[in-house]
Amino acid sequence: PYEIDGYRIRSNVSIGIAIGPQDGESVDDLLMAADLALYSVKAGNRGTYKFYEKAMNKELNDRRQMELDLREALERNELELHYQPILNLRTNVITGFEALARWRHPIKGMVPPALFIPVAEDSELILPLGEWALREACHKAAQWPDDLRIAVNLSPKQFTSPNLFHTIEQTLKETGLAPERLELEITERIFMENNDSTLSTLRRLKELGVRVSLDDFGTGYSSLSYLRSFPFDKIKVDRAFVSDLKDSSEHIVIVQAVVSIARALGMTTTAEGVETEDQQRLLTTLGCDEVQGYLYSAPVPIENVPETIAKWASQKKTKAA
Ligand code: C2E
Ligand code: MG
Ligand code: MG
Repeated sequence: PYEIDGYRIRSNVSIGIAIGPQDGESVDDLLMAADLALYSVKAGNRGTYKFYEKAMNKELNDRRQMELDLREALERNELELHYQPILNLRTNVITGFEALARWRHPIKGMVPPALFIPVAEDSELILPLGEWALREACHKAAQWPDDLRIAVNLSPKQFTSPNLFHTIEQTLKETGLAPERLELEITERIFMENNDSTLSTLRRLKELGVRVSLDDFGTGYSSLSYLRSFPFDKIKVDRAFVSDLKDSSEHIVIVQAVVSIARALGMTTTAEGVETEDQQRLLTTLGCDEVQGYLYSAPVPIENVPETIAKWASQKKTKAA
């Protein structure tokens, strides 16, 4: 790490390797093969190396094709949002929904976001996609009961647009959603890929009243300095920790530490990917504030949102009765 102007800058290295003559006989061919191998490293876990393989040509072509398809899908409105409820663990009441993008491909069926979001991020497509998701989610949430929030995922790439603040402010105005009801989910990747202007955009959004959550906490570098660099409203504990939560696992200690740090910093915690009663019980003991996962509901299409709200409202009544 380097200290530059008071900032700690960390750089990492990804390497693509091609070997002649089998991967290419000319300089151009070798560089192309090395480039493909590098591309493959960057598309997966960065900071490592890969040797060129023939299959990488196909991977690149598939990705290019997906990019073309995605561009058309956006124009043709083939993307939709599904909504997953987030519940208060203590009261069992719905506090809001997270909007999750879905691509209903005419031939391939449902394409998961884990596949198309990275492609959108590599091209500039994440910008129109992100704007669409934000507008659609705010528009829908504006029609829900006032005490329900809507969480929208933001890619680090969206913070490279100088218009992000304005777009969000304008979207709130146009859809009539109160800023306090919008929760933006960002991952710590944002601190690795962006600069000062990101923090200033986040601060302006907070001044506007929008809430900001740190998503997937525990997966990346999870540096505590990220928690200090911005006053997040919420930390979402990644499901990797939740899925392995057993009475004896070390994950208990980690979740407990995250809950304590969050409390001390005035942030709440949401556990992601809760699937079993046992996990729920442990999370209650650990003092987690909110939960989200298949145990309660998978993400549902917009038409099923009212019944999801009704289901948890009636549970609340049954509990009170
Ligand atoms: P995320 O924001 O961490 O979303 C949580 C993911 O966990 C969702 O996957 C959700 O369907 C899944 N999940 C929820 N409960 C459970 C559970 O109990 N068990 C298991 N195994 N999984 C559960 P999904 O919908 O496939 O989305 C994956 C990721 O794609 C999201 O992770 C988010 O990072 C990204 N994404 C989705 N929509 C958008 C979007 O509109 N914009 C951006 N930038 N990213 C998005
Ligand atoms: Mg999220
Ligand atoms: Mg997450």
